[in-house]
This record gives sequence, C-alpha cells and structure tokens, in this order.
Amino acid sequence: MPQAPDPSTALDAELAADLAEREARGLYRRRRIVQPRPGARARVGGREYVNFSSNDYLGLACDPRLADGLREGLTEHGAGSGAAHLITGHSALHHELEQALAAFTGRPRALLFSTGYMANIGIAQALVGRKDAVLEDRLNHASLLDGALASRAKLIRYQHADADDLDRRLAAFREKQPDARGLVMSDSVFSMDGDIAPLAELATRCRAQGACLMVDEAHGLGVCGPQGRGAVTAAGLGPDEVPILMGTLGKAFGSFGAFVAGSETLIEHLIQHARSYVYTTATPAPLAASALRALAISREEDWRRDKLAELIQAFRAAAEAHRLPLMASDTPIQPLMLGEADRAVALSRALEAQGYLVQAIRPPTVPDGTARLRITLTAAHSLDDVRGLVTALAENMDHEMDTR
Ligand code: PMP
Repeated sequence: MPQAPDPSTALDAELAADLAEREARGLYRRRRIVQPRPGARARVGGREYVNFSSNDYLGLACDPRLADGLREGLTEHGAGSGAAHLITGHSALHHELEQALAAFTGRPRALLFSTGYMANIGIAQALVGRKDAVLEDRLNHASLLDGALASRAKLIRYQHADADDLDRRLAAFREKQPDARGLVMSDSVFSMDGDIAPLAELATRCRAQGACLMVDEAHGLGVCGPQGRGAVTAAGLGPDEVPILMGTLGKAFGSFGAFVAGSETLIEHLIQHARSYVYTTATPAPLAASALRALAISREEDWRRDKLAELIQAFRAAAEAHRLPLMASDTPIQPLMLGEADRAVALSRALEAQGYLVQAIRPPTVPDGTARLRITLTAAHSLDDVRGLVTALAENMDHEMDTR
C-alpha cells in the first residue's frame, strides 16, 4: 500500500506555496532585529539609523525616568505578575496606574488590559452578541475589526470618517432590530492615515439613534489636546458622548499595555465578562511603574507636544515644496501615498540604504492600491533629521521618475 505523505511535510509544502505567492506580490513581511537608541535612533545590524517608524511620539521609550520606574518596580514586585488580575496578579502599582488613568481621562474608572489588541477584542465581546451590531469605520485598526468578529454581532462597516453614512446604516439596523444594541467603534487618530475621526459628529449620531460610542485613542493620547489628554477631549467630548474610551501605553507613553476608561458599571461589567481580561496573566507590575512615570511626564512636559507640532509643520512644508504625495494629516503619522506595494518597498529600501528607517505599509494592512510609506515623527527627532528625510525622499522620488 502506498504510504500517505507525512502530514507535516504536506502542510509545509502548502504553506511554502502561500509564502512564495506573498513574496511574488511584494507583500512578504520581514522582521529586523532592532536596538532602540535615544534621539529617535535605532541600531540594526551594527549600523545606526534615524527611526521614522516608531510610535514613540513623545520620545519617552528610552527616557531614563521610565527605566528608573521599571527598576524600582522590579525591586519591589519582581519580573512577573504570576497570575491573572482576578487571581493574584493585580498589584498596588497596577491599581495606582488605573486610578491615574481614570483621572487623566476624566472618567470614574479605568481597567488595564495587557495590550490594546486584547482590550479591543474584550470590549466588543463583552458588550454585544449575536442579535446586536458593531458599526465600524472602514479604516479602523485590525483589532477593532477582530473584536467585532469575536463578538459574533453583525459587523457593519461605514465609509471612512463619514458620519452621514454611519447614520444611514444605524437607521437601517435600528429598523430591523429596534431593541438590539448598537456599538459604534472608531479610531480617533487613524493609525495608517493619520487623520482624525469626526468625533463630535459621530457622537451626535450615536446619541440620536441610541447607539453607544467607543473610541480607540491609541494614537491620540499623549499626542492630541492639552496635556496630551487625547483627541476626544480636544474635540470637547466627555464621558456622556464617549462612554467607552480605550488607550494604549506602548505608543506615546513609551511603555507597554492598554486600558479602557469609563463608568464604574462599565468597568465592573468588563471585569466580569471580557475574556481577554479574565483569562490572561497580568502584565508585569514594573511596566505599570514605567507607565505611571510616562503619564506624569506627558502631563508636565508640554514642550514635547510643542516640538512635535513644530516638526510636523516643518516636515509638511518641506515635503509640499518638493510636491511629495502626502496625505492630509496634521498628526505625527504622515503617510506618503505610493499606490503599488513594490514602489513602497523599493523606496523604503532606498531610504534604508541612506540611513533612514521608514516602514512600507502594504495590503492587507491598507486597501489594495494604497501602499504607502508610513512616516512617523516624534519629539525625539531634530529639525535636521526631518529636513534630511525630506531631501532623501525627494531625491529618491526624482530618481524613480527618471528611471521609469
Ligand atoms: N488600536 C490601534 C488604533 C492601534 O494602532 C494599535 C497598535 N498598532 C492597537 C489598537 C493595538 O495596541 P497594542 O499594540 O497595545 O496591542
């Protein structure tokens, strides 16, 4: 009898074919081994680069005060939390951070999650079910989409930043399911485009149609608004308009983790029902200590946001002078639209050869035909870094035109 093929070999063959196809389409994802350095620098393979790809918007990830927080937390609490929050993993440092985050966001309570991805999965899964609907901006972060899918509610996607389209879709859903729950989820600052959702309009539509608005402030907190209190606060909205606020600690706050802020009841509900909260080990307490330092620094050091604003303005002015294809964004996320994936990859490689790390973003992270360079600015960059990048971009794009 002929022997059946070894299943692991057969699986590998199928996976290898898929990988080869990805490679051929210019969509293969590769990691680098990166050592972050102060001043928005990064060492890769023994060479130092200016890093225009990190979300460390305030330049805090390498701040010695955060490292001090980590060290002190480590001495007091050890490296691992040892259990989930509901077992014995919830330390005094976690608790203090939750209270500080509640105060910072102006909400009664906050709840730490291990990552933003897990927070977004947990929110939708805990709040809606089969008969309900989650309405999402087409360009929302993948974790918000995955959260809606995990919840088993009907996922309805509305046109990007289009409150009228949301309104129409909400009304159609309401007509069919008058008693079901409608949860609207949106990024505040869109992670790949850098623009800001029409938060006030979304809130008005949600209120009129009895839907609940959740905003993901992963790229807004620390960056937007006075003291970095976020795009929701900057839009003049509070807990009545945005009852569910999610934030991350691994971007502007230079640390790690995430949280949801909201009412006492919302947080108690999440503690009971959010599976990505209940069934996972608490993040190590020292990370909470470094996040606490970051929060204090963000509140006190407005100069970081002022500098960031100055760099954003300088970048856009220089790029516009060279007619570079920027998207409309006044946040630190400054995408350069290139269209085809291989163009974005080629430009990213050329910049790397000149000492700049700028990530090419390709489908499926962004829609087909909208591959881009995602340039991120941080308060740790200098004006010279930014001018140097624009010069390199302009030279490479001129060269590309000449050789086309
Ligand atoms: N939401 C948005 C908008 C994000 O950009 C990200 C991170 N890329 C997340 C959520 C997930 O956060 P974390 O990295 O903490 O899992």
